[in-house]
Amino acid sequence: MRDKLARVGITTVQDLLFHLPLRYMDRTRISPIAGLQGNTEVVIEGEIRGANVVFGRRRSLICKVQDSTGLITLRFFHFTAAQRNNLAIGARIRCYGEVRRGSAGLELYHPEYQLLDGQNPKPLAQHLTPVYPASEGLTQYRLRTMAEQALALLNSSNLEELLPTELLSSGSLSAGVSTSRANTQQQTSLADALRFLHQPPASAAVELLAEGLHPAQQRLALEELLAHNLSLQQLRQQVRQRQAPAFDAHKTLHTALLKQLPFALTGAQQRVCNDISQDITQAIPMLRLLQGDVGSGKTVVAALAALQAIGSGYQAAVMAPTEILAEQHRHNFEAWFTPLNITVVWLTGKLKGKAREAQLSRIADGSGQLIVGTHALFQDDVHFHNLGLTVIDEQHRFGVHQRLALREKGKNAGIVDEKIIPHQLIMTATPIPRTLAMSVYADLDFSVIDELPTGRTPVNTVAIADQRREEVIHRIRDACGEGNQAYWVCTLIEESETLEAQAAEVTASELALLLPELRIGLVHGRLKPKEKTQVMAAFKAGELDLLVATTVIEVGVDVPNASLMVIENPERLGLAQLHQLRGRVGRGSVASHCVLLYGTPLSQRAKERITVMRQTNDGFVIAEKDLKLRGPGEVLGTRQTGELNLRIANLERDAHLLDLVKTTATRLLQDHPNKVAPIIRRWLGDKERYGQV
Ligand code: ADP
Ligand code: MG
Repeated sequence: MRDKLARVGITTVQDLLFHLPLRYMDRTRISPIAGLQGNTEVVIEGEIRGANVVFGRRRSLICKVQDSTGLITLRFFHFTAAQRNNLAIGARIRCYGEVRRGSAGLELYHPEYQLLDGQNPKPLAQHLTPVYPASEGLTQYRLRTMAEQALALLNSSNLEELLPTELLSSGSLSAGVSTSRANTQQQTSLADALRFLHQPPASAAVELLAEGLHPAQQRLALEELLAHNLSLQQLRQQVRQRQAPAFDAHKTLHTALLKQLPFALTGAQQRVCNDISQDITQAIPMLRLLQGDVGSGKTVVAALAALQAIGSGYQAAVMAPTEILAEQHRHNFEAWFTPLNITVVWLTGKLKGKAREAQLSRIADGSGQLIVGTHALFQDDVHFHNLGLTVIDEQHRFGVHQRLALREKGKNAGIVDEKIIPHQLIMTATPIPRTLAMSVYADLDFSVIDELPTGRTPVNTVAIADQRREEVIHRIRDACGEGNQAYWVCTLIEESETLEAQAAEVTASELALLLPELRIGLVHGRLKPKEKTQVMAAFKAGELDLLVATTVIEVGVDVPNASLMVIENPERLGLAQLHQLRGRVGRGSVASHCVLLYGTPLSQRAKERITVMRQTNDGFVIAEKDLKLRGPGEVLGTRQTGELNLRIANLERDAHLLDLVKTTATRLLQDHPNKVAPIIRRWLGDKERYGQV
């Protein structure tokens, strides 16, 4: 039994209380047979009028039951001889089951039943009957009995009310549910909410319950979300109790870099630069997430932050998720920093042997001031001289654990005092919907670049069915003929690099035949990094007109002269990925176009996505739509939302609670700090999952 319970996540009495019904059955009243309708769960009571075994395609026991209003058929496919004998003509019977339309009109298939002996019929259920999530060998009957026992034990000593009374009575909890639909009765305590959900009265608002929007459910969801929020905030507090190097604010290097740039910073860039600059002049570790749509100019923001560290005598590291991006950063940073007499070093997984040793020693002795690389930067044999700032680019897919693990790399940061860790700046081009930001990233500060550099013309997006492929090829010829460059992106359903590479190769040779006058390059995940880099460099230098690519070019690649992108089979990609890809064009001043060359027929979902892409270029709008269409697990990657491990709350359904969660968390931390740990423990367990990495 213990094992079976453990399989559905129950190990304690409290788990049992929080193991909430999936749905309810109404066994509180008897329905007249004449009024029954298909697909409803009912209780009926009547007299047996006949019981026969019939031999059709399947042997079954057919039993007719009649009450004062009508007659209905019970049908059993599995039955014992004893059962057959018990269901005797004239016996009174009460049945629970689902009404279906069968060959003999309305039928009850395999109802639960009870023979009534006339003298003392059992009372009907007093409340709605819960149906619990179960597993094999764990019957509903068993779960119900145990839940009843747990409820009987429920009192303030084993389930303390942790939300302060002023919060419960303020009415704010039911305000979460739209008032027109909400049950006006207010749930005051956790215990009441649990009692209600295990044993709702027959009059309960079943529709709200089914949607998870009943105030009793919302009361629990709120506390659960609160627990997660508090845990992240606590984590944040822990980090803030550590120390980081405080950098000087002197602007000499800043000014020197800005002078070199062929453009002025946008207002948004200046604003976030100020946020960051202020953070890192303090001895408290910065934990900041910088969101900025593709092409909004995050790299230069990172560079300015790095200069502040370097100007103060510390090293700065910039980490990119792929070799291509790391290479691109290296290129940018070398171009920007070498004139300032700053040494840029470089480390990726592909760097081996002597070359690697050389870089490692420059990182360790401090002669490398800015270090660019991939994950290789955080391998155990990499020792920094004195790392003061880590910039992580395009890493929205990182979960809490990985963020922490990277923070802890301060141990290798070369700073003598273990308490001191580097400042951390995380940059992402995938805007994070506010709801997710508030729940999954509650441990970070936020900055947003909400403005694109001037002179950009928004990308014009069209959708064209692949029957009109020829037209699209003409467009490429025209665009490249005018001296612009184009991308052709191949997508595949399977996540196979090999297949994707093959598809891209086939497309590239096909296009080469059709467009002999163009210089065509090919880049995919199967190429050696060196080859990849060469092709990218050639494209960037304008030595190629058309780049056929797989989705490897998704993030960060920056070629301002590219003004046309064709995405083949865009229906295979999610909105966020499409937006990322499209962001590769529209970086220069020429009008840019994105052609979504879709396969037909399109599913409803795919149609919706393509419509969104045509309607807006705003990454935040797209992210919100993506969240609606795909849900948080898909948007952030299951790792992050799975990490939240929500039992009752649902980020989409309960998004309206998040503001309340935030204010409640703040109030608890201020006015009732002693409640914080118990709330976290109740919902997240003793593991302190976020605390130790
Ligand atoms: P992302 O935010 O996608 O990483 P990048 O940092 O790669 O964007 O910048 C995109 C392009 O815009 C680069 O060519 C960069 O030099 C340029 N850029 C950045 N800031 C500005 C600005 N304020 N005005 C004009 N161009 C800019
Ligand atoms: Mg970038």
